[in-house]
Amino acid sequence: MGQSAVKGRHILLIVGGGIAACKSLDLIRLVRKAGGVVTPVLTRAAEEFVTPLAVSALAGNRAHTALFDANDETEMGHIRLSRAADLVVVAPATADLMAKMAGGHADDLASTLLMATDKPVLIAPAMNVRMWEHPATRRNLAALTGDGAHTVGPNEGDMACGEYGFGRMAEPAEILAAIERRFGSGDGAAPLRGRRVMVTSGPTREPIDPVRYIANRSSGAQGAAIAAALRDLGAEVELISGPAAVAPPDGVRLTRVETAAEMLAAVEAGLPVEAAVFCAAVADWRAAQTSESKIAKARSKGGGAGRAPVLKLTENPDILRTVCRLPDGRRPALVVGFAAETDDVVENAAAKRRRKGCDWIVANDVSPETGIMGGDCNAVTVITDEGTETWPRASKAEVAQKLAGRMAAALAKGRAA
Ligand code: C5P
Repeated sequence: MGQSAVKGRHILLIVGGGIAACKSLDLIRLVRKAGGVVTPVLTRAAEEFVTPLAVSALAGNRAHTALFDANDETEMGHIRLSRAADLVVVAPATADLMAKMAGGHADDLASTLLMATDKPVLIAPAMNVRMWEHPATRRNLAALTGDGAHTVGPNEGDMACGEYGFGRMAEPAEILAAIERRFGSGDGAAPLRGRRVMVTSGPTREPIDPVRYIANRSSGAQGAAIAAALRDLGAEVELISGPAAVAPPDGVRLTRVETAAEMLAAVEAGLPVEAAVFCAAVADWRAAQTSESKIAKARSKGGGAGRAPVLKLTENPDILRTVCRLPDGRRPALVVGFAAETDDVVENAAAKRRRKGCDWIVANDVSPETGIMGGDCNAVTVITDEGTETWPRASKAEVAQKLAGRMAAALAKGRAA
């Protein structure tokens, strides 16, 4: 086994107050075993779950707890503490800690360090499933990833509170792997450096009149996560997004569009790229005619309900199919399509791959009961020339990282197999 990318790196580990804090002890052990240096910080609540003494002993470094500590302020102020690290890891990131981070609070040592740092931040959320799904946590997560924070987990499983679902902190080994990814792994640090890639994301909005439009439930979460994962591998990312509910990641070139026609124009303007992922939920149809002014409700002569207008639709251009048919040189070497299906997912996706002419297709079941559309996790089947592979249900960020890794490997081999 090669040397870990964590060797010699300084990790500022902020431990939040949740039962998963116990798992952070293992994380400390793993990071140190990989050659990393850990400076631990405990929130007040974390001290209810693990003691500063145990954490200090495992880290081989003093666990910091209080914001105002006469010794610390003379030896190492909180600003220096936050800057001395190569990476800040928040594990577990509780709902409260995430809210504080998203809101920019700085009323204890952990939140102050997070505000004062100029280093990348990796958060490993851990909380009850209802808290994870709460709209406030959704908003906070979107704000944090929009601010450039990276996430690992949470995973699905049994919780300490007896419930089942998403909210279990990622396992220490997974967090270590995410830390290693942040530092790259030696020669593979940025396998997509110097390569331009494109991602389409989000829904499109097709106007009917100045106030009404046809759209769909796509949040843009999977597309944003793919753009971030490709960026993390060093790619120059062109993100072309319809009106998405989630914030776009930092460090990518964003073109905002509304309609399918605008998205196609932006895609064509962004070519050539070496790889493209078509994640957008492009509306299949648009209104055949749009009205310049708001269509008024018709009234019958007697003032009662009038005849409802009939909406005539016309088909939108198929962006994926158009790009796949471009001549060599214009067509990206690797084109990845998505297939959101509700029935016969794999069969339909395989047929779609042939029809559209893309190299890979990522199929997902978007039946309402899966909670995938607008949710945090995804369960996908990836179809390539080499076969069909079903990936375990995971967060959209993890699906994105895995897909980006596969894309990097395929581009390195110089083929889209
Ligand atoms: O035909 P369907 O919409 O199911 O195909 C899904 C795939 O095609 C996705 O990759 C989507 O981004 C892409 N697509 C497109 N332009 C369209 C419709 C779909 O690029 N008009």
